Amino acid sequence: MTLIPTEPDLSGVARTYELDRKHVFHSWSAQAELNPMVITRAEGSYVWDGQGNRLLDFSSQLVNTNIGHQHPYVVEAIAAQARTLATVAPQHANDQRSEAARLITERAPGELNKVFFTNGGADANEHAVRMARLTTGRPKVLSRYRSYHGGTETAINLTGDPRRWANDKGDAGVVHFFGPYLYRSHFHATTEAEECARALAHLEQVIQLEGPQTIAAVLLEAIPGTAGIMIPPPGYLRGVRELCDRYGIVFIVDEVMTGFGRTGSWFFCAEEGVEPDLLTFAKGVNSGYVPLGGVVISDRIAQEFAHRPYPGGLTYSGHPLACAAAVAAITVMERDGIVENARRIGEEVFAPELAALAARHPSVGEVRGRGVFWAVELVADRETREPVAPTGGTSQVMAAAVGACKELGLLPFANSNRLHLVPPCIVTEAEAREGLGIVEKVLSRVDELVK
Ligand code: PLP
Repeated sequence: MTLIPTEPDLSGVARTYELDRKHVFHSWSAQAELNPMVITRAEGSYVWDGQGNRLLDFSSQLVNTNIGHQHPYVVEAIAAQARTLATVAPQHANDQRSEAARLITERAPGELNKVFFTNGGADANEHAVRMARLTTGRPKVLSRYRSYHGGTETAINLTGDPRRWANDKGDAGVVHFFGPYLYRSHFHATTEAEECARALAHLEQVIQLEGPQTIAAVLLEAIPGTAGIMIPPPGYLRGVRELCDRYGIVFIVDEVMTGFGRTGSWFFCAEEGVEPDLLTFAKGVNSGYVPLGGVVISDRIAQEFAHRPYPGGLTYSGHPLACAAAVAAITVMERDGIVENARRIGEEVFAPELAALAARHPSVGEVRGRGVFWAVELVADRETREPVAPTGGTSQVMAAAVGACKELGLLPFANSNRLHLVPPCIVTEAEAREGLGIVEKVLSRVDELVK
């Protein structure tokens, strides 16, 4: 007798939907206006909806299934761990947690040698900020507008998008600044070099005017993800590192979305030659098969807590199922060259094909990205760069674009006026081209709508 059905029960789809609408309260949403897609099955780069339609998953769900869906090696590792030791309290040592910490720290840059495990990305950022405040004795944290750092109290206040507003009581100790974003430059820059220099000068001014002695940390996404995949100009992250050193500020890099292969490397900050004091991760560490996040801690900050207790913890810190999934995911990503695959697909397929597609479609303002991390910015007018939807909002054009993607068999990640094309790092060249073929058709429809 099998206890777990292996085939989706399509007769149950209507019931799933009905119970969802009746009892499930969803994230970030007006509940009565939702129409969630039922997903019954997934494999590799594909998911199946309640009607049995197969969709190419160019969202990687919430940009987390870096290893693809249902990777047998990771699924088996979770099952094996469940049979061995399904849970263990955080104060005990456990082989999967120890091994996961080794694999993560070996891939992190420089002297980042310890991991504090959390349940996800938001609480990783919460703890990173707590460590920075305790280490420096300073209260404030600087983060950029156009960013996302999570939904919990400090993390949502660090966030620089409109989702913060309703959560912002003005007392979180967070000050926002402008980061580099050449396409919509806040600094009237016309080149990457100008944007970089001016963004750094702006940040230094903010530090000076806020009072360096009041600032515990600067916290930045390595590449702002949900806010638009704005690749920082070369030298920007290094410049922030230098500013932090100059003013005794802890530099926290959030690699929750960028880490573990997404950009074609294990960590983007390492590619830029930058070693933060604290690095936060989640998502791709085990592709979200079991919730897991964490803070990778530099020797200097770890030393702060060598003989005074760190005042923070979680029942599930370093949960063995999550850590077993991380060990398996990292091992198989290394073994099968999955990070290199993401880089190659970015360089050989996405970069040239999206550039060509942008040239053909007037509704495309800009395409940008690397690895399997790409944004297509849709505009009503190329000259004025007027977005087809406001920041943090939607519009008929965006709803039509997302609807067309799904109708044609592609699940995108959409935010504001952008389609994000973020397939798993295992995506094959054929799948990448299949997805881009669908995007081309969708853009033809969007061109008509904005004409
Ligand atoms: N940081 C970044 C850059 C993210 O993209 C996210 C989630 O999308 C988070 C933090 C929050 O992670 P979680 O949803 O696991 O709390």
